[in-house]
Amino acid sequence: MRFEALQESRKRTQKDIESSGKRSELFGKNVFNEEKMLQFLTTEAFDKVKSAIFQGTKIDRKIADQVAEGMKAWALSMGATHYTHWFQPLTGSTAEKHDAFFALTPDGRAMEKFGGAQLVQQEPDASSFPSGGIRNTFEARGYTAWDPTSPAFIYKTTLCIPTIFVAYTGEALDNKAPLLRALHAVDEAATGVAQYFDKNVRKVYATLGWEQEYFLIDKALAKSRLDITMAGRTLVGSAAAKGQQLDDHYFGVIPNRVLSFMSELEKECIKMGIPVKTRHNEVAPNQFELAPMHEEANLSVDHNLLLMDVMEVIADRHNFVVLFHEKPFAGINGSGKHNNWSLATDTGVNLLSPGTTPMKNLQFLTFFVNTIKAVDTYEELLRSSIASASNDYRLGGNEAPPAILSIFVGKQLTDVLDELEGVSKGKLSPQEKTELKLNVVGKIPEILLDNTDRNRTSPFAFTGNKFEMRGVGAKTNCAKPMTILNTIVAKQLTEFKKEVDALIQKKNLKKDEAVFNVLREYIKTSKRIRFDGDGYGREWQEEAKRRKLSNNKNTPEALQVLTSKESIALFKDTDVMSEVELKAHQEVELEAYIFHVQIEGRVLGEMVYNHILPAAVRYQNLLLENVRGLKEVYGAAHKKVAETQLNLLEQIGTHMAEIRKLTEEMTAARKRANALSTTNKKAQAYCNNVKPYFETIREQSDKLEKLIADDLWPFVKYSELLFSK
Ligand code: ADP
Ligand code: MG
Repeated sequence: MRFEALQESRKRTQKDIESSGKRSELFGKNVFNEEKMLQFLTTEAFDKVKSAIFQGTKIDRKIADQVAEGMKAWALSMGATHYTHWFQPLTGSTAEKHDAFFALTPDGRAMEKFGGAQLVQQEPDASSFPSGGIRNTFEARGYTAWDPTSPAFIYKTTLCIPTIFVAYTGEALDNKAPLLRALHAVDEAATGVAQYFDKNVRKVYATLGWEQEYFLIDKALAKSRLDITMAGRTLVGSAAAKGQQLDDHYFGVIPNRVLSFMSELEKECIKMGIPVKTRHNEVAPNQFELAPMHEEANLSVDHNLLLMDVMEVIADRHNFVVLFHEKPFAGINGSGKHNNWSLATDTGVNLLSPGTTPMKNLQFLTFFVNTIKAVDTYEELLRSSIASASNDYRLGGNEAPPAILSIFVGKQLTDVLDELEGVSKGKLSPQEKTELKLNVVGKIPEILLDNTDRNRTSPFAFTGNKFEMRGVGAKTNCAKPMTILNTIVAKQLTEFKKEVDALIQKKNLKKDEAVFNVLREYIKTSKRIRFDGDGYGREWQEEAKRRKLSNNKNTPEALQVLTSKESIALFKDTDVMSEVELKAHQEVELEAYIFHVQIEGRVLGEMVYNHILPAAVRYQNLLLENVRGLKEVYGAAHKKVAETQLNLLEQIGTHMAEIRKLTEEMTAARKRANALSTTNKKAQAYCNNVKPYFETIREQSDKLEKLIADDLWPFVKYSELLFSK
């Protein structure tokens, strides 16, 4: 298979992509956006949808029927034949079940049908999706419900309607419903605070701009490997002589075949309203990145999920397989998905961007410091939102960023925070006010202009007008970190407002005095989370421990906090998730963890017994035949002549015995783990007793790979996977 695959991969030619014209003309062509709504909806329906988007008002059945009618007319005019509710079950990816518009009337006439009922709600009978025990398959089913804040779009010939997926009892069975609730919570809390500075603010949006990293591997090569096919990553493979040490790939010329893939992908994205902007080579060979402009967080999350789906389809057309796994290859960089996050008002102001007046800068400081405080209080929870079996190979492995959450703000902003720490308690003297306005708050914009000392090792960095969360895995649904981040910031801003209001009302402080007073305390109490040093070093691990920051290196550990008393209270207070939902989501994540490790273990076992050992035996036979021949010719003297062959035979035999022993032990450990009674115990057993074998088995396999004749080695090698273009 390996050689067939190699042959096939060498025949590849680049696919020509016709120029698609101006992006601005193509943008949103397949989206039921405002422009299409104006054209296809009645004024009444248009207004109702707009107010549902803006104010979260309900859309009644009559209006839903009108919207459905308009959507159908548009979709049919675009050549769509089917529609689907597009949702995000807890599996982490997206799901869809297509229904044809086509219907028959009772008297047998054919027609295209799509009404409000089909738009608003669907029962996908998706009883096999994970529910963490919320929903018993034999009683209630889940249903999907239209999310009008994310516009419908057409992919291929299907009208896709973004939806949430909930149980009949109301609990979220997906990642979108909690995200929408978190965005609502942060809107309410942040609007209240933003109104201290501008009375006209009516709504605050969380914004998200993700940066998607991925590997592109030739299809024939990737498909020839069981581990890539089944687990999305290589479980064995000796490092190629050359890796990324020359840095000759990073930001280099994009290979032709890849460029034509990217061009087609971007064209599709633009049509579906994903505002893709940047593309480049990443650090590792055959690793790339794509980033769009930022958008409202819910839409941005949907667009990232859609992008990942579309990428797989387009990659296939170009004879590539796209890998989103966080660590597909040992020894070279893995893939992440930085989440750039900020808050913006309906008046068009980025709340994490300093302005031109002291008041604007106080507003900036307010949101800046509150975010720091929120992350400090809930660092462990935020860490849990990016935990997964595959991301464990990055976070807390020997790769960036570490599993410890900390915030980088840079030297100049640290100085500002230090100054603010010295602000007097209670009322401020006129001199102090002037000093603050002129020399501290007033200087912020200049500071940010040359805030160039960006720390690449920080998991949560302030980058001028937004925070960048860097621990998110390439495969992760951004809804998870975005739900937690926006929830904790919502909670924090609510607390902040209470404290400021109390100072104004009870202590008779002016608004800005009250704000300074509360911020001063936050700066003091959240100091431990700020860290500008090297996040990779051993010293930081020790220092973080002294600071009592969590350092949960694996998923089962990291997920525990989800159901702590504090977390349950937080999600209840903010109306983002109930205790039942939290427990269910935790259960689902733990189960997913178990399955992933279990699958990897099984695949590895299969590779050892069915491929690696047989290859070793074949090579042994070759050597034996040779030794036998030498003995025939040289008699007793053959031992000297065949010294190398005999030595190889012995080495191979040793590694074979070792790899078999380890594989048997791993299988036994799996059996013991499977017999445990709770999901939690099982997950921990898989993590601590099964997973460690992956490393040691791999070591033996990689040694064998180096010893065995190349033409007998069954798997496409790292040099072939990573350096074929
Ligand atoms: P760089 O960090 O590479 O200099 P930018 O600062 O332009 O580049 O942005 C990097 C990423 O941050 C982009 O993908 C963009 O979508 C995102 N981004 C920029 N501004 C915001 C914002 N206000 N909110 C959320 N994401 C943002
Ligand atoms: Mg970045």
